[in-house]
Amino acid sequence: MRYKIACSAERLGLLDPPMIESVVAANAFQIGRQYMTENRVRIVDADETQISAAVIGHSGLYEQTIKLKDGHLVSKCSCTLSEEPMCRHCIAALLEYHRWTQPRQSQKGKTSHATTAPPEPAPMNDAQPKPSSVPDIKLSDVMQFVAWLEPAMKAIENGGEIPAPPDVGPGTVGAWIANLTNLELRRRENQQTLLDLQAEMRDREAYLDRLSQQLQASIAEAKAAQSALHTLQRETARYQTTLAQAAALVEEVMGQEAEIRTAARELLNKAAHLDALTDSFHELTDSLHLSLKQPSTK
Ligand SMILES: [Zn+2]
Repeated sequence: MRYKIACSAERLGLLDPPMIESVVAANAFQIGRQYMTENRVRIVDADETQISAAVIGHSGLYEQTIKLKDGHLVSKCSCTLSEEPMCRHCIAALLEYHRWTQPRQSQKGKTSHATTAPPEPAPMNDAQPKPSSVPDIKLSDVMQFVAWLEPAMKAIENGGEIPAPPDVGPGTVGAWIANLTNLELRRRENQQTLLDLQAEMRDREAYLDRLSQQLQASIAEAKAAQSALHTLQRETARYQTTLAQAAALVEEVMGQEAEIRTAARELLNKAAHLDALTDSFHELTDSLHLSLKQPSTK
């Protein structure tokens, strides 16, 4: 699906989540944000005016391209959803791009957006206990942590399941353990995503193979059709020659017929002459008879 939204931003990084939320459908935004937080989005390539991304949706992998062009935000996705003016996958890609560019923007110092400025530290209040500069670390917790760390690191190296962390309660060591387990969880999620992507790639390759086989079959069919056409053309040419010969023959026959008629007319004329001659001959014979009879009567 391809959609176009009027947009005055000059860089895609300026499109923050509230801005995106204000122009798209609420349901699509919610799902897009869920995809982003579930780490289903991969930015394939991006600059300030264009993003190429891939999103693992509920029923497959979809590809997006999002561009800022001539005062418009043009989004395109390989899905068939009719979510307007932008599908959940494109929303997820935009949100991921925003998250992706955020740390780099804040490193450059304060931006013009007041909302991106870091919050002011709360003023110290004497009534509250002063935060201690010494972290709340108990030696027993550290010992438990170190004992857990070794098998945990081995498990991570071997790709196995990390052992259950020691129950040290809240505190600095607890935070270390939570961070480590979160990191490991995230790594596993990434690995799963990678595996899913690889499976998807294999599916696509198989699909491409099938397509190329179909293409080859179509080419072979087209060649066969072409050769049949050539045969037909040759036969047509042969028929045309035969037809021309037949026409010449008809013309010749007609010419001979005319000659025959002329000859017949001439024959009839001659017959008429012959009749006239016969008549004259009869008359002559008659007069001869008469002249022969007359002397005998005298
Ligand atoms: Zn989509």
